[in-house]
Amino acid sequence: MDTSRKFFTVCPRDCYDTCVMITRVEGGQVNSIRARADHGITRGFLCKKGQRALEYVFSPERLKYPLRRVGRKGEGKFERISWESALSILAGKMEKILEEYGPESILPYSYAGHMGLINRYFPQRLFNRIGASDLDYTICSSAGKEALRYHYGTAAGMDPEDLVNSSLVVVWGMNPAWTAQHIYSIIARSGAKVVVVDPVKTETAGRAEMHLQLKPGTDSALALGVINYAISENLHDQEFIRRNTIGFDALARRASEFTVEKVCGICGIGEGEFLEFAGECCSTKPAAFLIGLGIQRNLNGGEMVRAISLIPAVTGNIGRRGGGLFYSNSAYFTADLTAVSGVPSRARRSINMVRLGEALLDGRLDPPVRFLFVYNSNPAAVCPDQNRVREGLAREDLFTVVHDLFVTDTADYADLVLPATSFLECFDIHFTYGGLYVAVNEKAIDPIGEARSNYDLFNELSARMGYPELCESPESVARKLLGTGTGYMDGITLEELMEKGFVRLRTPQMPHVAFSDLRFRTPSGKIELCSGLAQAEGLEGVPGFTEIKGDYPIRLLSPFHRDLSKSQYHNIGAIFGGDAQAVEISREDAAARGISDGDRVRVFNARGDCIIRAKVSPKVKRGVAVTYGIAWPKLLEGGKNVNFTTGSETSDIGGCSTFHTNFVEIERA
Ligand code: SF4
Repeated sequence: MDTSRKFFTVCPRDCYDTCVMITRVEGGQVNSIRARADHGITRGFLCKKGQRALEYVFSPERLKYPLRRVGRKGEGKFERISWESALSILAGKMEKILEEYGPESILPYSYAGHMGLINRYFPQRLFNRIGASDLDYTICSSAGKEALRYHYGTAAGMDPEDLVNSSLVVVWGMNPAWTAQHIYSIIARSGAKVVVVDPVKTETAGRAEMHLQLKPGTDSALALGVINYAISENLHDQEFIRRNTIGFDALARRASEFTVEKVCGICGIGEGEFLEFAGECCSTKPAAFLIGLGIQRNLNGGEMVRAISLIPAVTGNIGRRGGGLFYSNSAYFTADLTAVSGVPSRARRSINMVRLGEALLDGRLDPPVRFLFVYNSNPAAVCPDQNRVREGLAREDLFTVVHDLFVTDTADYADLVLPATSFLECFDIHFTYGGLYVAVNEKAIDPIGEARSNYDLFNELSARMGYPELCESPESVARKLLGTGTGYMDGITLEELMEKGFVRLRTPQMPHVAFSDLRFRTPSGKIELCSGLAQAEGLEGVPGFTEIKGDYPIRLLSPFHRDLSKSQYHNIGAIFGGDAQAVEISREDAAARGISDGDRVRVFNARGDCIIRAKVSPKVKRGVAVTYGIAWPKLLEGGKNVNFTTGSETSDIGGCSTFHTNFVEIERA
């Protein structure tokens, strides 16, 4: 007889799938973690990161007690201290800095290291209350969200469960076979024809019926070429366009500049390939277009998403079962996150998280950042322009606190390092940016060592700093949050979640058909092929193509590895057994530089360099290289990862990161 107790748990990784599981615990020990079979996305399996989650939770490398720095910044030398003295140092230092330099000299730095909404947003209550600098969350998806807002009024699109009804799935700049394995399995089940647009022959591209291997950053030219092809071949859906869009003439004029010949020259593809691809996009219905997050991490990332997003509108694939656009569905979750985070007590400055290095080094910032509080993030691995990030973190007049499960590269620079809980050790509520489910994560085991959740830490800190009104139990926060849900979230309660583990959004259809009412959240209520919002913000109403040139000959792409979640798991051998120190380059580029497979090479540009191993690969074309990450620099030869070469310039719209606009040279080391 199974005498274990069952807990509803959720994989907290920054992943489209947000898998739900049952964790069984007996005598305080975890017996098993199993994927739920009755959840429309999880469907009974976990990826390796989920299957081996216990090796992460119980890693011998877990940080078990607070540490205080005793060595130089970056050296990673610490001594153990008690929580009492850690909190007393922390509260005392924050109060002193508040008094001497003002609240904006304090900068919280966080992202999606834990996707649970309470662990993610509760710490903001204190920062909002004191009026600390605001962190602009731009590292991931902001350009694409802005792009879709211009034309559709929202980024929320296809329910991934509706992909079973698609006849064609165009996977554009995304590798779901690695990064959204459950959504990929739905596509595989659908029997749809899969076409991939990607500069790299990824696993998804390798398994697809067709792969268009275009030059990086040329996607908007390709998309406008497809629109031009649709119009000139009379394959556009005139009735749909007439009823549901505005601005067709302006778009048609712009698209007419993108002839087959011109597009093929810009994108580096053959005319036959283009015609086959365009023919599929325009003739096969219903067609789903999946736009990856990586594509918009480019200087021209916004215009690329804008252009791609208009293909399903012109071809009449919006609002129909099995058709549409998929990018990020977080906007379906209408609950008001300020129930968790509170609201700012005053107007304060905002600092773009991609520009951390500049923010820490900018002598003109008034006041300068004097206190950095890092949680749910590892900026000394994931931020671009690492030389500047580290120069900033090394400032002696900067006090840095890191709350994490492990002593990361960032923690090595911290004055205080505080142990954080894993998902099994704390309660939370999860939304997702993939499927349409809300889920609860119950606390299944006691914290390892002296670890504390983000909300326990900030409840304690808030009380010590004289703000007891900010303190609240996570269950009470969850009730308040769910109580603000409207529309598809209306009536979802904590009680229902505690009974079932997860609840599907209450959409009228199952699967949900996005925009089935053909009402759009734009000012006109229609799809704005020529966007008035974009024009009001000083942009062109219709997307175009901007050629991006670099000072170095090879464009280095750095997407995420299948077995990593951003920088998480690189230190967990049981999960990440892969090669975080390889760069795939084409045969031509390797031969021109005398590089052989397996050679140690130096990848460099004016921003910095890293030592890595060359993998001569047919998966990239001449002038393109790819390395998968994000590796912990300190675990690599030379202590540097690819982000020592990436830049902190931001995208054309949304202030987004531009990791994939990175030009380098590669030479034998
Ligand atoms: S990383 Fe993603 S696919 Fe893997 S278990 Fe977690 S949510 Fe599921």
